[in-house]
Amino acid sequence: MKRIRIKTVLSGVEPGTRVTVAGWVRTRRDSKGGFSFLEINDGSCLANLQVIAPAELDNYAGDVLKLHPGASVAVEGTLEASEGAGQAVEVRARAVRVLGFAPPVEYPLGKQKVGFDRLRELPHLRARTNSFGAVARVRHLLANATHRFFHERGFLYVHTPIITSSDCEGAGAMFQVTTLDPHTPPRRADGAVDYEQDFFGRRAALTVSGQLEGETYACAMGDIYTFGPTFRAENSNTRRHLAEFWMIEPEMAFADLDDDAELAEAFLRHLFQAVLRDGADDLRFFDRRVLPGVLARLERLADAPFGRVTYTEAVRLLETSGRAFEFAPCWGMDMQSEHERFLAEEVFKGPVVVTDYPAAIKAFYMRRNDDGRTVAAMDVLLPEVGEIIGGSQREERMEVLEATLRASGLNPDEYAAYLDLRRYGSVPHAGFGLGFERLVQFCTGMHNIRDVIPYPRAPRLCV
Ligand code: ATP
Ligand code: MN
Repeated sequence: MKRIRIKTVLSGVEPGTRVTVAGWVRTRRDSKGGFSFLEINDGSCLANLQVIAPAELDNYAGDVLKLHPGASVAVEGTLEASEGAGQAVEVRARAVRVLGFAPPVEYPLGKQKVGFDRLRELPHLRARTNSFGAVARVRHLLANATHRFFHERGFLYVHTPIITSSDCEGAGAMFQVTTLDPHTPPRRADGAVDYEQDFFGRRAALTVSGQLEGETYACAMGDIYTFGPTFRAENSNTRRHLAEFWMIEPEMAFADLDDDAELAEAFLRHLFQAVLRDGADDLRFFDRRVLPGVLARLERLADAPFGRVTYTEAVRLLETSGRAFEFAPCWGMDMQSEHERFLAEEVFKGPVVVTDYPAAIKAFYMRRNDDGRTVAAMDVLLPEVGEIIGGSQREERMEVLEATLRASGLNPDEYAAYLDLRRYGSVPHAGFGLGFERLVQFCTGMHNIRDVIPYPRAPRLCV
């Protein structure tokens, strides 16, 4: 079918042009004057295209009058300047071909308003709503802007494995991958499950991060990034956590924590600018219908320099703030969302990079600072969302890394490949991970992270 997208039609095709458009009916209104109005949406943009279907059409009574929300049609006609309010152009139909009818009553996205909760049970249909259509377009745009940003800076896109036999964080709860029969797995003499007989001949799981494999490529190719799905089996039923989410992880050789923070800042600013430039219609929709003020917030951040503060100083700011936190701040604590938000929203009034966290609350691979108690780690905090990026300079000193592994109760033998990078031509390097859904959440103002990924996976949610 030769069709033209509604987005193209609405962005300046001359009235008088013959067009064929195809899409799904959002509404139908029948006028006494002998014609019907159809609002058609094809997903290419937020706006619907208005079609005027005159009663003279052969199939007017037989087809057009049987069109209900959700039905699909292909319309051939002429573009006209519209007299009605609300649209500049409309299509006067010469032919309306019904591709698929939709029964009038059962369609779950009929005229009534449907809440986000209910829509989560209908992931196969929710992309047909204004909100989820807009989210899908903004998500695409941000993914595209990500690849452009790194490509233009000479970063190589590396695909790291989804199934892995190493646990990156040493702490992350992982989803096991196995082909063993869960009821009667083969057992060793001591009664433990015999993973030698499993598919990979050892225990395997879905990755929690591509970082370790990313590092091996950075230590050969220079600057790389990964952008892929990651999985965490943590039972966090919050509006900011998913069990399956996408992560963007750049890794740079010959770079320190300052370079890392600079990259994070340039990247986020690039993303905000891209979405403001290319997603304006959808952003206005979010500003109107989802979170008033989200547009102004993005505009403000697109140019604002990021704040910088060490963890130690940040804790002091929290302690002396006079604010009654649910969780009293003290040096050594893992910052809670309320602390992160207070720093971004009240103290720095914008994004802030917190650096040099206590070693005890961070992963083994982060570079020890000379003070003996902190590491070269950073988190980027945003207003409303809190942490969006976690990163660090990596420990490049072989002996220090080995000692830290042992102190963390990890077996250096299992990290032989990782240690090899330090054994053969070790270089300072740094990187970070950005949770892609947190980014989409921030840009759209959507309240729940489950509504910014097409098929959300969370505890007890796998529709
Ligand atoms: P948090 O403290 O918010 O649970 P984290 O410290 O466990 O996050 P990292 O391991 O540093 O997260 O992961 C890097 C980034 O990935 C985070 O900054 C965040 O943007 C995102 N992220 C982490 N866990 C999740 C999750 N369960 N769902 C969605 N995004 C996540
Ligand atoms: Mn983190």
